[in-house]
Amino acid sequence: MPAKPPRLALQGRHQQKADSRAGPSVFVSPRGAHRLKSGHVWVYRSDVVSANDAGPGAIVRVCDERGRFLGSALYSTSSQIALRMISPSPVGDLPVLLRERVLAAIAYRKSLVRDTDAYRVIFSEGDFLPGLIVDRYNDILSLQVLTQAMDREDSRGALLAELLENFENATIAERVEPHIRELEQLPPRDSTLVSGDKNHTVFTMNSVRFHVDVREGQKTGAFLDQRENYAAAAAYAHGEALDVFCYQGAFALHLAKVCSQVTGVDSSRPSLEVADKNALLNQREVEWIEANAFDLLKDYSAAGRQYNTIVLDPPAFAKSRKNLQTALRGYKEINLRALKMLRPGGVLVTCSCSYHVSEGEFLGVVAEAARDARKTLRVLERRGQAKDHPVLIDVPETSYLKCFILSVSY
Ligand code: SAH
Repeated sequence: MPAKPPRLALQGRHQQKADSRAGPSVFVSPRGAHRLKSGHVWVYRSDVVSANDAGPGAIVRVCDERGRFLGSALYSTSSQIALRMISPSPVGDLPVLLRERVLAAIAYRKSLVRDTDAYRVIFSEGDFLPGLIVDRYNDILSLQVLTQAMDREDSRGALLAELLENFENATIAERVEPHIRELEQLPPRDSTLVSGDKNHTVFTMNSVRFHVDVREGQKTGAFLDQRENYAAAAAYAHGEALDVFCYQGAFALHLAKVCSQVTGVDSSRPSLEVADKNALLNQREVEWIEANAFDLLKDYSAAGRQYNTIVLDPPAFAKSRKNLQTALRGYKEINLRALKMLRPGGVLVTCSCSYHVSEGEFLGVVAEAARDARKTLRVLERRGQAKDHPVLIDVPETSYLKCFILSVSY
């Protein structure tokens, strides 16, 4: 029978974890410790009891009030999220760990991502690299650094080196959100090419081709989180289709492969100009309409227009839990108008990217809209964000996109 471990051995293990190479210690309140023990990866500043000499972007040892080691985290001196966990073990060398994590994220995509040269390579917490987003558009990588720890010179060096080793000859374009740098108290930086010289490329997803331009001043990129939903929508779409909030036409161009006629609606002219170039690139005919979607849906449904397929993919209506009710009213209105226009046997693809609106709440307003429109809905698919935007089961903040594909009956 194995002997019971002596108490001394346990103490020894704690002492080893107190190794100073693993950075300064930050002590958290019982509430913070509880949050971590239940699998979350953030500790808010209000739950930091003492941060000793932890500097901006330091890798720190997180301990409960009794000094028990809870894991290693990246520390921010300014963000409300003071600690973002990065490892359950002590970390000696952050750049080495970052390189390992980048490799692991790339390997994860290799096993999961198909039919595209555009996908999210690194999704922050979802890839155990909090504060880092990397998107691939064919031979351009778009990089966003959101925290003090990822902005350290040694972190940047490690991340860029690992990315360039794995994506040879890629251009790396850094996309800067000035207000985020301000919040993190980081010196201002411009959006620039940090490696390579390509500003523009063409990428392909599900056999549909798209232009992307990373030049400053232009909104970059596509909604990669919808990639699998584009293909799913096209599997059910038919007849006359309307893509509302179409941006650069991704749903519309997927639908154009299977529908007899497609119209895309957006209020942004620059987006529609790219959408039109994308249609040309794919040799598809799509009608693009610049309009406020709320007005257009109201006018079209009042005029008795009919469609077989409608996609609704609006911007996040709820920016915080505070405007939840207004957001739900917005979702209800557009879904109601769309449902009135859908023929029996039609398909509604309805999305919400508001983290603050839960899947249940969203489904609830769609169901209400269907009752008001006197239509019955059957759920074809209940979907979320593409698998290259991994959801951590204990971190609800990593899951935000809802996409329902519904079949409309009488
Ligand atoms: N479906 C798109 C993404 C949509 S993003 C895709 O998969 O690529 C949301 C879009 O809604 C943006 O293009 C924005 O310009 C547009 N938008 C925001 N408010 C709008 C409004 N009131 N009417 C029409 N379009 C609007």
